[in-house]
Amino acid sequence: MPGMVYLVGAGPGDPGLISVKACDCLRRADVVVYDRLADERILAYAPKDAEYIYVGKASSNHAMKQGDINQLLADKAKEGKCVVRLKGGDPFVFGRGGEEALLLEENGLPFEIVPGITSAISVPAYAGIPVTHRGIATSFAVITGHEDPTKGGSNMRWDKLSTGVDTLVFLMGVANLPHITKELMANGRPADTPAAVVRWGTKPEQSTLVTTVGKAAEDVEKAGLKPPAIFIVGDVVGLREKLRWFDRRETHPFFGKTILVTRAREQASKLTASLERLGARCLEVPSIRLVEPEDGYQAADEAISRIGEYDWVIFTSANGVGRFFERLALAGKDARAFGGAKVAAIGTATAEALKGKGILADIVPWEFRAEGIVEALKDEVGTGKKVLIPRAQEAREILPERLRELGAEVTVAPVYRTVAAETDGEALRQRLSDGEVDYVTFTSSSTVTNLLRIVGTAEALHGVKTACIGPVTAETCRKNGIEPDIVAEEYTISGLVEAMGKFLEDGAV
Ligand code: SAH
Repeated sequence: MPGMVYLVGAGPGDPGLISVKACDCLRRADVVVYDRLADERILAYAPKDAEYIYVGKASSNHAMKQGDINQLLADKAKEGKCVVRLKGGDPFVFGRGGEEALLLEENGLPFEIVPGITSAISVPAYAGIPVTHRGIATSFAVITGHEDPTKGGSNMRWDKLSTGVDTLVFLMGVANLPHITKELMANGRPADTPAAVVRWGTKPEQSTLVTTVGKAAEDVEKAGLKPPAIFIVGDVVGLREKLRWFDRRETHPFFGKTILVTRAREQASKLTASLERLGARCLEVPSIRLVEPEDGYQAADEAISRIGEYDWVIFTSANGVGRFFERLALAGKDARAFGGAKVAAIGTATAEALKGKGILADIVPWEFRAEGIVEALKDEVGTGKKVLIPRAQEAREILPERLRELGAEVTVAPVYRTVAAETDGEALRQRLSDGEVDYVTFTSSSTVTNLLRIVGTAEALHGVKTACIGPVTAETCRKNGIEPDIVAEEYTISGLVEAMGKFLEDGAV
């Protein structure tokens, strides 16, 4: 049984501009074939275990040839797979969707087209430019700007297009502007006709340059504007002055600001969504993930089965506390199982976590280094004392070693393993040092340490405004050498967003 290929339009960039039907196809996909314009959040509609095939940037050498893409779709469909071929904008507007569909048809393979919102109309709309407008424009054309001017024998009817259509929207035309504008003027379009170039339309980084047909090529060159961008020609461009909404400070106070959102589980999406609604561009730093230790929970479960025999149990992190008590509960036990064992918690966050489980730590060493901890414990943990350390699998060996040197009998029980955030620390540091990031948000102490772990040092955040959800997080910042600029008064995500908005309003950058 052959599968099915859906040629799906993903919309122009704003992940909200995807259709319900497109999401539905993605949810059912076995294979997703996508290219550069696809937003990560759109890809996330597809199942995690689907096969994702990147077929590359149109202009890069790594791009898969169109013939190969067509073949790939056919092969996957023959295997009986549900294939989603995701395309920027609409698949049939300069998307080569027609070619892909034809090959499928020739092979007798079933396909469906899911139209998308094309950049040709939506990008002007986000720039406040209606492609038609009563009394100003009664027609518009969507034109490729990609025709090679040296090729000769152009298919373009410049004579008809230049004056026969009111609004002209050129896709893929940035590099070709000198040629396009020259043809337009040579064929009767006045040099002072309003024109605009919109780059990365519908996305938080959208930028718009308003010019005229006569000056466009020079202005774009001066501004260093690069693809992807569309070029709009016509009197409707004049409406932008009144209709621009997306990049207006009153409605989108964070427009043009890049905000680093350090993720603490599901909190991040809410924060990102709120900030993006206000115009910000958010870069999400994924959180560390806690997973099962490589050798499973055997050591932990074994220790739990005789927990009452230990003289000391040393917790080194709040995560360790959480995981340990999960195992304890699975064994049908609670805090009473500790019996006479004494408990040490390294750091106040760990002590707080323990308190939440009904245990007040006997010792809370402030010092995080093994030396300090051993110093605090040395009168208690001597020869023959049994010590249990439930902790992360990858933790350093110094603490158990030093305790063993004191004569203690130490059991290390891994209760979790942290998987490194899938973040390229080097790339993030580069963005920070390029001044690309305006704000960083912290919604808990662990987001502070997580980000510092990724970027290495507090200095990497130099020049970036820091916003904290509350005083505890702010204190963690200070301890790590970061002075917060904003601390929310109400310790919630909305409180944080509000505090940031106020900070902006007060005239900060
Ligand atoms: N099928 C797509 C167009 C593909 S051709 C659609 O319907 O939108 C690629 C060209 O589309 C780019 O070179 C650029 O001119 C335009 N484009 C696509 N997305 C864009 C965006 N978000 N902002 C500006 N131009 C965009």
